[in-house]
Amino acid sequence: MATIQSMKKMTSETAVINLYDLAWDQLAQLLGNWGYSHYHVDKLWHYLYRKHATTFDDMTDLRPDLRHLLTNHTQLTMPEVAWQIDSTDGLTRKFLLRLHDGETIETVLMWFKGRATVCVSTQVGCAMGCVFCATGQMGFIRHLTPGEIVGQVLFAIRTLTAQGESLRNIVLMGMGEPLHNYEATMTAVDIITNHKGLAIAPRHITLSTVGVVPGIRRLADEKRPIHLAVSLHAATDEERAALVPPARRWPLAELMDACRYYITRRQRRIFFEWTLIEGKNDTPEQAHALGQLLQGMDAHVNLIPLNPTVGYNGRPANQQTIQQFQTILAEYGLPSTVRQRRGIDIHAGCGQLRAHTTP
Ligand code: SAH
Ligand code: SF4
Repeated sequence: MATIQSMKKMTSETAVINLYDLAWDQLAQLLGNWGYSHYHVDKLWHYLYRKHATTFDDMTDLRPDLRHLLTNHTQLTMPEVAWQIDSTDGLTRKFLLRLHDGETIETVLMWFKGRATVCVSTQVGCAMGCVFCATGQMGFIRHLTPGEIVGQVLFAIRTLTAQGESLRNIVLMGMGEPLHNYEATMTAVDIITNHKGLAIAPRHITLSTVGVVPGIRRLADEKRPIHLAVSLHAATDEERAALVPPARRWPLAELMDACRYYITRRQRRIFFEWTLIEGKNDTPEQAHALGQLLQGMDAHVNLIPLNPTVGYNGRPANQQTIQQFQTILAEYGLPSTVRQRRGIDIHAGCGQLRAHTTP
């Protein structure tokens, strides 16, 4: 976990700490340095994550001397909406959020059977370069801080609360590779799940990774019972590397070892994602190869028909092919789901996120 000093460095342009960057323990450390007990930490935490205070003046129950210190040394920095758009079916809303340095990210709200899910970004751009992904096509700009990840969740909760709704699920599947920004992402998860604040149950959070092996192993060793999804897309190293460049660094044998380690250590199933591209990875042979790769594992396959992006010339697999793919997986005892296509008309679907202001 980052220290207060390193966080000060992170925000050195302003030399001010963004309170949303701090996990409860870090906030306790900061207030402890000023001589305040955990009682005051809890009170402040309550203002941040229960009462949704937006200024220190709102925190009328805090001691004036503490409010004074907070005003001088910290800030409540939230991403701001630069632009937003609703899909024609009204079930998806995409936000372009502007960060303090002018960089922009996309955050997506989706409603499934009336329940809201927010898809959160963890980086501006992405370094992984998957060929069919709009975020990968834009390259890597920078990591998000914990507060910028938490800020997206707070933003979603406030938006939903204003219309009488609540947030059900969080998917760390927006722009970026969360396990390439491990510390910040996990600090954000700790803040979001803290039972004294937002108290979102870890089982309502899913993290999707391209297959960063050291990150999967670390997640297996740490106690954060969130769901894990691993983007596979191919069952041989050669085919996978053509779609997902990090496959060269972490070959399938290593990746599957790490996945088995995770399943055993955490006693949890893994979701494997497979973006179905016509004529590329949708043949019966490829379904059999996937079946063999995952056979005997506690696994669930999520099939995602390819969504269009400017930089990749491919088509989604057709419905009949998808059904056949699922039938073959079932022969290996593998359950699978076809992910509902959402927000394609506003470029808010899987892999379509990049910082742009027009649909
Ligand atoms: N970086 C993480 C999470 C973000 S991407 C990861 O790669 O897993 C979320 C999911 O969308 C991944 O499974 C990714 O492979 C998939 N995806 C990317 N581009 C896509 C596209 N054009 N169509 C459909 N799915 C896509
Ligand atoms: Fe990055 Fe995931 Fe897109 Fe690959 S699919 S470029 S890892 S965001």
